[in-house]
Amino acid sequence: EPTHVTNFVRNIVEEDLRSGKHQSIVTRFPPEPNGYLHIGHAKSICLNFGLARDFGGCCHLRFDDTNPVKEDVEYTESIKESVHWLGFDWGEHLHYASDYFEQLYQWAEELIRQGKAYVDDLSAEEIRSYRGSLTEPGKESPYRQRSAAENLDLFRRMRGGEFAEGAKVLRAKIDMASPNINLRDPVMYRIIHASHPHAGDGWRIYPMYDYAHGQSDAIEGITHSICTLEFEDHRPLYEWFLDNLPVPSRPRQYEFARLNLTYTVMSKRKLLQLVRDGDVAGWDDPRMPTLVGLRRRGYTPEAIRGFCDRIGVGRSDSWIDMSILEESVREDLNERAPRAMAVLKPLKLVIDNYPADRAEEFDAANHPQRPELGTRKIPFCRELYIEQDDFMETPVKGFHRLAPGQEVRLRYAYIVKCSEVVKDETGAVVEVRCSYDPDSHAGGAAAGRKVKGTIHWVSARHAVDVEVRLYDRLFTVANPAGDDWKQYLNAASMELLSHCKIEPSLAHAAAEERFQFERQGYFCADRKDSRPGTPVFNRTVTLRDSWAK
Ligand code: ATP
Ligand code: MG
Ligand code: MG
Repeated sequence: EPTHVTNFVRNIVEEDLRSGKHQSIVTRFPPEPNGYLHIGHAKSICLNFGLARDFGGCCHLRFDDTNPVKEDVEYTESIKESVHWLGFDWGEHLHYASDYFEQLYQWAEELIRQGKAYVDDLSAEEIRSYRGSLTEPGKESPYRQRSAAENLDLFRRMRGGEFAEGAKVLRAKIDMASPNINLRDPVMYRIIHASHPHAGDGWRIYPMYDYAHGQSDAIEGITHSICTLEFEDHRPLYEWFLDNLPVPSRPRQYEFARLNLTYTVMSKRKLLQLVRDGDVAGWDDPRMPTLVGLRRRGYTPEAIRGFCDRIGVGRSDSWIDMSILEESVREDLNERAPRAMAVLKPLKLVIDNYPADRAEEFDAANHPQRPELGTRKIPFCRELYIEQDDFMETPVKGFHRLAPGQEVRLRYAYIVKCSEVVKDETGAVVEVRCSYDPDSHAGGAAAGRKVKGTIHWVSARHAVDVEVRLYDRLFTVANPAGDDWKQYLNAASMELLSHCKIEPSLAHAAAEERFQFERQGYFCADRKDSRPGTPVFNRTVTLRDSWAK
């Protein structure tokens, strides 16, 4: 389904193809494998893979794996799986920046030979203070004037593992007085005595992002290298390296506004902290904004792609309200999810005038607007469960559901009237007793009789007992920022219900099968914890936005 929503990047691509600047386009999605993908990454994935799809180009998946200490194969596997799940495919083009380490190294030597890079012995601390500030020019390092021969020798020995971490770095020799701090002799390589999850044991120096990224783009023939706005000030550096190296192609960098979403956090550092501190059950906890979390929650790839289309791609930073993401999944599931009845907090209802040995079945449509989804049989008998909230012993004004002496329609079945309330020794209502109107079912003589309320129910004899988790937003405030951001965690973000009653047709729900539980919301069979015959359901989203002000 090509999207027709245009944006400034699409306009650039269109113009480049129209003018003949490019015959075809190549984009890339370049995650660092240091965590799981989140909904912000989805924006970048949809943009990059969407451009390739819509303009007949291709999009590479490139692991930007230049920092071995934070990276892990656990993350690469999950990233690949999430991109596929979202509905995109890189075909032959799975790449690793670390596969270019040798070429990047050779190019670094090339810059040294040209007198455009040098080995610096200043400490990280000193480099920072020599760099100056927006109002103050930088100061040149005393090592800046080393000869090319000396620099080559030192750089080779850095590679050979001769020096301690932090003892030396390789820097580009650009301009310590540049108004753009990124051009004040940026670090290209640092010493890290660690082996690399993909490149193995051979390296003791590792390239910085700013040096690796543009050259990797050039090696892969990327035409449009799209990143977030924080990198706008890095663009002159991106171009400086391309200008000074014999690269095989000339990519261009474009920047767009990153996604900021309310009521959650998206920095990998904070997400990792939630996992490590046990505030959530893991990266795929259904409350997490990660793609694995959203998937377990019941979000569909279509809903996430629809969300990304809806929020668009622009050049000014802004916040998107969580309700927009929630509305995207609600709309998608409203279309596709079959309806079912489930009682989450059960209260027994006994129909005194219905024979104990009798059972019948009613037909129910699986979707009110989509007859092609068919119907199913719902068993009915003398003992049912209804929702505790659908009964009030002393009804408040306007309560049109069940109450002593009051009538209600049981969805797809009969009208019942409450005659008696049974309580336990603490005074809590444990059962309601009713009589039914035998002519009030569909097709009966009193089928059209109107009562004010209709409630859902399940047959006690046929119901299946399951666990349901009611998920809600992870934070109670729109922007959980500051040092004590965790104090805004929503204590009610998960409610575990262990004896819910579902209609028997749901007993064999497959993992990830999604339903609308009538009057409750959209639910998804958990892909980890469901067992054959006993699914576990996660609430994806309620039917209406309860957070709206
Ligand atoms: P974090 O700050 O959480 O570590 P990151 O940007 O460093 O995120 P990467 O793995 O480097 O994470 O991101 C891969 C790609 O996804 C980058 O091109 C980046 O621009 C994009 N991306 C990351 N976060 C967002 C976001 N919130 N909105 C849009 N794009 C994003
Ligand atoms: Mg990054
Ligand atoms: Mg990062």
